[in-house]
This record gives sequence, C-alpha cells and structure tokens, in this order.
Amino acid sequence: MKAFYALLHRSSIVDNYIWKMRLHIIMTLRKLIDGIFVDTDGTNGGNYGAIVLEDEVVMIDSGMIHTKSRQTREFLERETGLPILKLVFTHSHSDHVFGAQAFEPVSLISSAPTRKRCEENLKNEWKIENLKKNYAEVKDERPELWEALQTLSIRLPDVVFKTYIFLGNNEEISVKLLGGHTAGSSTIISHPHNVIFIGDLVFNGQFPYGGDPTCDPDRWIMALEEVLNLELETIIPGHGPVCGPEELEEYMLALMDLRANVEDATSSGITVEEFIREGLIPMEIATGAERFAELTLTHWFQFYG
Ligand SMILES: [Zn+2]
Repeated sequence: MKAFYALLHRSSIVDNYIWKMRLHIIMTLRKLIDGIFVDTDGTNGGNYGAIVLEDEVVMIDSGMIHTKSRQTREFLERETGLPILKLVFTHSHSDHVFGAQAFEPVSLISSAPTRKRCEENLKNEWKIENLKKNYAEVKDERPELWEALQTLSIRLPDVVFKTYIFLGNNEEISVKLLGGHTAGSSTIISHPHNVIFIGDLVFNGQFPYGGDPTCDPDRWIMALEEVLNLELETIIPGHGPVCGPEELEEYMLALMDLRANVEDATSSGITVEEFIREGLIPMEIATGAERFAELTLTHWFQFYG
C-alpha cells in the first residue's frame, strides 16, 4: 500500500511537472482584460492575440512558430470553451503569419494587398528551400523556430477585403486597411473592449522595421493620426508592450521627427551611416536601432530622395 501511495504521489508530481512545463510553454499568452488575450513576449515572433466573442474566438495574427502557437490554441479553447474560427492578419510579415497552420481549419482574413504579398512571397522567399537557406544561420540561436520551419505549411488568406470588414454577430470587430508599415497593413478594433490591435504601425518604445518595399512613411503617420483620433483606451502594438493613447501619440511624434530628419538629410546629401552616427534618430525610438535603423532608413532615404 505504501508503495502504491508512493507511486501515486510520484505520478502526481510528474503530472504537475508536465502541466507546469506546458504552462511554461503557453504562459506567454495572457488575459489582458475580459475577452482579450495577448502575447507580447516576443519569443513567438511579433505580438498576437485573441478577441472572445459570444460564440467564437477571433485570432489576430498567429505568431511565427506554429508549434508554440498550437499551445496557444489549446489554451484558448480550454479557457473559453469556444472554437477559433477566424484568424485576421495585420500584415504579411513572417513573424505575424507563420504560426497560422496551428489554427487550421480556420478562415484566414486579410486585406487585398496583404494577400497579394503572401502570393508573391510563396513564389520566392517563402519557398521552403529558400526559407531553409535564409534561416540556416538562426538554427542554433533559435532551435524552436528552425524546428517549426521544417514542418511549415503556408496557406493564402481566403477572405479578402478591400478597405474594411466587420466581424461578429453584432459587428463587434472592425478590420480596416490603413497601409503604412506595409501596403496591406490593417488594424483590428474590438469595439466592446475599446481595444485596437494596431500591428506593426507601432513598435512600442523601439525603432521600427520600416524597410518593406511597400512601406510608405507618410501613410504610416497618417494611419497613426487616424487611430489616435478614435480615442481608444488600449493599443496592442505589433512589437513591445501594450500601451495607451499617450504612447501612441509619442510614437507618432517620434516618427514625424524621424521623417523630418530624413527629408533634411536627403536634401543635404548625407548618407544613412552619417545619419545614424550623427544621432539623428529621435531618442524615444533609439532602442533597437542597431537592428532596424539601416534597413528602415535605406528605404526611407529612397522614398524621400
Ligand atoms: Zn512587420
């Protein structure tokens, strides 16, 4: 009997351990407020989250590592008791869309330019042999990502909208194409929650990636202005922590400063390297500049040059 209890005890310890390990994997997704879940941890690519409606859960972006996103899916379905029927892409970058297969079968929703970009990518950089080549260097640094790429399966969005689309029985969610960060960049508002998923229009507290060939800094700043005017309470950025309208305004002003400095630089003929060296990046977005400044500024210099 003693042995039996010892065994029972040990197995409950093991169960507990397994459960904790599972929790550890999925812990990066958290309930932000009732009805809204987010993962802003950054270990599964860009931020992503979920909106809980009365009879379904709508995912916003998918993370990048589908094996991790699968844990998210299981967690959400268990927590809410509801199916995930729709997944909306804020834009086409891999760190936001590569986790999508974890939610199959699901309706994939995107703006027309985002779908177009996914189609183009599938013919080139998203071909599995090209992905393996391009990501080979992160093999040791990010083994989970590398593993997930081996079984990656990419499907195109099947519900495509031109300018906006409403979701939910009472149109609780509105999705709108604004462009800026990419031509297809869209925002998703959950009206009952007063929350916006703004995608990569905001890299909160960080220098943004703005090197996409379709990135349009003017549209980007206009998009931020439009969102700011909506006076929403909670902003879920594409990268960085959740914020409010004050941080959104600060971000918009920082991008305006960056744009003004780039316009001056292109007319005075200084190079991207000189621009960075001379400290012309606004202080508010200096964090992470070593990662994205060169790519972003090269594109912005061409855009205004
Ligand atoms: Zn992006």
